[in-house]
Parts: sequence; structure tokens; C-alpha cells
Amino acid sequence: MLNSEDLRSTLRRIDGRGYKAYTDIRGVYNFGEYTLLVDHVQGDPFASPSQVRVQVPQQLAGFPTDTCSSKSREIALRDFLTRMFHEASGRFCQGRRGIGNSGIISIDRPGQEVLERTSAFVTESHVEARFVVGLPAFGRIISGKHAEAMFFEELPQIVRASLLFSSLDRNALYKHIEVAEDADFLRERLDELGLVAFVADSALLPRTSGVDPRPLARSQAVTFQTPQSLRVQVSLPNRGAVTGMGIPPGVNLIVGGGYHGKSTLLRAMELGVYNHIPGDGRELVIAHPHTMKIRAEDGRRIEKVDISPFIDNLPFGRDTGAFCSEDASGSTSQAANIIESLESGARVLLIDEDTSATNFMIRDHRMQELVSKDKEPITPFIDKIRQLYRDLGVSTILVIGGSGDYFDVADYVICMVDYKPYDVTEQSQAIAEKYRAERRPEGGEHFGEITERIPLAHSLDPSKGRREARISPKGLHSIAFGTHTIDLRAVEQLIDTSQTRAIGDALYYATRYMDGKETVRQIADIVLKDVMEKGLDVLGSRPAGDYAAFRGLELAAALNRLRTLRVRLGISDL
Ligand code: ADP
Ligand code: MG
Repeated sequence: MLNSEDLRSTLRRIDGRGYKAYTDIRGVYNFGEYTLLVDHVQGDPFASPSQVRVQVPQQLAGFPTDTCSSKSREIALRDFLTRMFHEASGRFCQGRRGIGNSGIISIDRPGQEVLERTSAFVTESHVEARFVVGLPAFGRIISGKHAEAMFFEELPQIVRASLLFSSLDRNALYKHIEVAEDADFLRERLDELGLVAFVADSALLPRTSGVDPRPLARSQAVTFQTPQSLRVQVSLPNRGAVTGMGIPPGVNLIVGGGYHGKSTLLRAMELGVYNHIPGDGRELVIAHPHTMKIRAEDGRRIEKVDISPFIDNLPFGRDTGAFCSEDASGSTSQAANIIESLESGARVLLIDEDTSATNFMIRDHRMQELVSKDKEPITPFIDKIRQLYRDLGVSTILVIGGSGDYFDVADYVICMVDYKPYDVTEQSQAIAEKYRAERRPEGGEHFGEITERIPLAHSLDPSKGRREARISPKGLHSIAFGTHTIDLRAVEQLIDTSQTRAIGDALYYATRYMDGKETVRQIADIVLKDVMEKGLDVLGSRPAGDYAAFRGLELAAALNRLRTLRVRLGISDL
């Protein structure tokens, strides 16, 4: 290991030279209080900034064991450290100076959710932060002086302010950990409690705006109040007893007038697969870990998906048992999204009428009279929603303000009025008795088989004709994968670009398991198992700070949206 003074003298030596000379600072340096690791040096002031790590020994960092005594606590602690480092860097780093990204010290920036990230680690021996540094240059000439200020003045202050237990706000840290632990605790026990989702009393669901996920000001928001009949009490390790709305398995509808908060409630449940930071308002909105939001997605590609439970009898006898399309319609895309999710292990589906294809959701009596079933390929969701639960044990939570036909198939009906939920199950059943829907069920007695698919490795080529893989996230909802772009806009539970980055690399990593035998689900499971055992770092070639954890459901969703994907059909065994 080199000494910090070695770094200082290198920086002085290369001051004023061409940018490439920065490669000389790669290495590991002893800074006394911590170790500095310069893992990767950018080739150019405009390239992605250089990758750097700091390791502070626990003798100095001093995190008590109870801050990381379980996986749940550890992830929350690491998330907290990332946030603190980010904040300290805003305070102590002078920021951009020179050209390109010169002068920045930047760590991954978490949002409202608490995710496992590679930006910070805590072990028995040390605390590690991973971040990037824009090595400063004016013109393409190295500014050793500015670099020296960054490494010898700014960074030590950032480290001291964010990575030592003694400098942190103890209460805030423990709150962060305990809130996450409670959420994990509840999510893990939903099955036991006989629930698929939970929304705590006084949760605050609405957001500041469509582009700002922070909570709406309390003064403008109606907080959540559970209807008596759906009230359950749970006991959490830190918060103790909490009451809220427990949604049981089965078919559950959310109805109510437009603008009364239906979609906001559903959105909160979608994100209930993640933990939220204290103050978010949705800390105790908890969804089953295998909850999948489904929507229509016209234009997407579909590769040999068996959508026959929903669609058959297409014009010209097109096969729907292994349906392919380069440009799916609203209904076929929504059918494929459901089948693919089931194939990947979804247990709870969330569907909003706002983002559904109408002809996929409903087909009323009059339309049945006008267009006979032999001329309508689509079996609407209303005829499949109960079978989905009865045959496959998969529950649905459906926002539908526009069709009372669904009363016939619902277990519970929740009505939103002025942002407050009411249990109107009995009323809706009485109405269903009084005004018969007259429609005839279609599509047979059973849901139908789920045919698993086996992805073929050769169809994933990220090389762009070059030797190494070219994969990079382009914002949250898109991955450049070789010469193709994966469009993830319809994968609505993806919430962080670092997840997108990890998924992109995981797709490539997954090809090693695509041996022509493993199904999409099996491959996603194996990749997730590797990540669980070895950490997210397995996905990349060097320790980087910009991966965040993702689910197998989103990994499979990305694979399914890669337009070059080719599969072989497996045996149906679900
Ligand atoms: P719906 O789906 O029933 O038409 P939305 O969920 O889209 O309604 O909500 C309509 C508007 O009301 C949105 O701007 C949303 O932010 C706001 N809103 C939703 N829930 C609440 C609430 N509990 N308190 C205050 N405003 C809310
Ligand atoms: Mg809505």
C-alpha cells in the first residue's frame, strides 16, 4: 500500500501535463484514518468520472453491532451512509471546476426507497463508501492543485462527517434502521397473516407531483383511514402495535369516482414491495414481495408467449399458444404481461383501468350479442380473474371505476370517497343481485396452462460487433444493450437508475446460465441467488458504487422486452 504523501507527490508531478497522466494515481493509499482506493481512472474529463473507494476501519468508524445485526438493518444502515455521504459531499466539495465533470465528488443518490446498493458497505472490520471523482482539468491539462484539494481537504471532511458513527445523528440513524426493519418484518409475514397487502392507518399516500415522489404536504393531504371491516392489527418489532387495512388474497376491487384517490392507493401498493425512508408517508404500506403491476403496452415485442388463456382464434388462424409479435396491440400486450409475470413467479397482480386496454378488461352483454364469441379472440379479464385465484392461487387488486360487471367476481370491493376507503362489498353484492349483468362467462372453466419458456443465449448479444459488452442504462426506463434498446417504461415498479444498470448487466451475466434447458424463471432465480450469496458486485467487472438491488420479476421483464430475445418452449408445469 502506498502512503497518502505518495499521492500528493504524484499529483504535483503530473500537474500541468496531459489528462492521460492521471492514470498514474491508480492504486491504494494509506490516509491514516482511512484507506483510499483509486480503482479506475477516467481517460478524459468528459468520460464517466473515476471510481474511488474509501475504507474506514471500525476502530474509528465505530458502528455498534446493533446497527447491522440483520440483513434488513445492514441494508438500511448502508442506505443511510450513502445519503449522509451525498449530503456531506454537497457541503464540503466545491463542485464542478474546470471542464467536463472536473471537480465533482459524487455518490449514488437514493430516493424515497431504501434499496440495497453497492455505494456503501459495512463489515466487522470496516465501513466502505464507493463514489466517483471527476479528476479536474482545465483545457485537457491536469490541475494537480485542484485534485490535491479534493483528495486532501474535501474528501477527508466528507468521510469524517458521514462515515463515523460519532458524527451522525444517532436518532435519525436508528429511526432509519427501525423503520426499514419493521417494513421487512411485516412483508415477510404477510402470508402468515393471510394478507397480500397492508396499508397502515394515517399513511400518507399522495405525492408532491407526477415528477416529484416526495410526500404531498400534510396540510393538503387526507391521511389513510381503514374501514372497520378490513382493519387488522399487526405487531412490529420497533413500532409495536399498528392498525391498518389488510387486503386478503383473492379478487379485490378498488372503485370510486374519478379523482378520489384510487390510482394513488394502487401506486402506493405497487411500491410496497420496497421499504421507504422515515417521513415518506408510505413506510407501512406493504405489499407481497411478488406483487407485479400489470399494464397495457402496445408496440412491445412478444416472443412465443402462450397467451391462449386470454386470446385465441386470431384472424388467419394465428397461433396464440406461442404468440409472437413485433408490435403488440393493447390487449395482446396486456395478456402477455400477465402471462410473463405468472411465468416469472408473480403472486399478486395490480391492475389500474387507467393503463389497461378496455377490450381486455370488459366485454358487456350488449357487445356479446353484437359480436359473437367466435368472432372475438379476446376472453376478457373479468372471465379469468377468479380462475387465476382458484387455479393458480394468484390474487388481483384491480382499480376499476368504470364497470360494475366486476362485482360478480369480487371478494372485496373498496370504494374511495374523498380519498377515504369504504368497504362496499355487501352493497355491491346486493346491486349485483338486483341488476343481473346478463353477460355470459366466456373462455371456459379453467385458467389454462402456463407454458414456460427457455431463453436462448445466442439471442442476447450485447457486443455491438466489438469484443466487450456494451450495456448501459439510458435513464430509468431504458437500457442500451448492444445495438438494441430495451424499453422499460411499462415496468412500473422499477424506481432507480442503479437498478436499471444492475439489470442490464444481470441480463448479460445471465447468459452463462442459458444452456437451452433453464427456463426464464429458473435463470432469474439463479442470478438472484448469486447476487444474494456474492453481492451485486458479481454482475460487474470491478467494484462499482452504482448498482442497486432488483427483483427477479423486473429482470425477467427486461429480458422479455429485449427485441432480439428468442426462446424455446418448455413443458408446462404450473
Ligand atoms: P383516481 O385514480 O381515483 O382518479 P388519483 O389517485 O389519480 O384519483 O388522485 C387524483 C388526485 O388526487 C391526484 O392529484 C392525487 O395526488 C390526489 N390525491 C390522491 N390521494 C390523495 C389524498 N389522500 N389526499 C390528498 N390528495 C390526494
Ligand atoms: Mg385513476
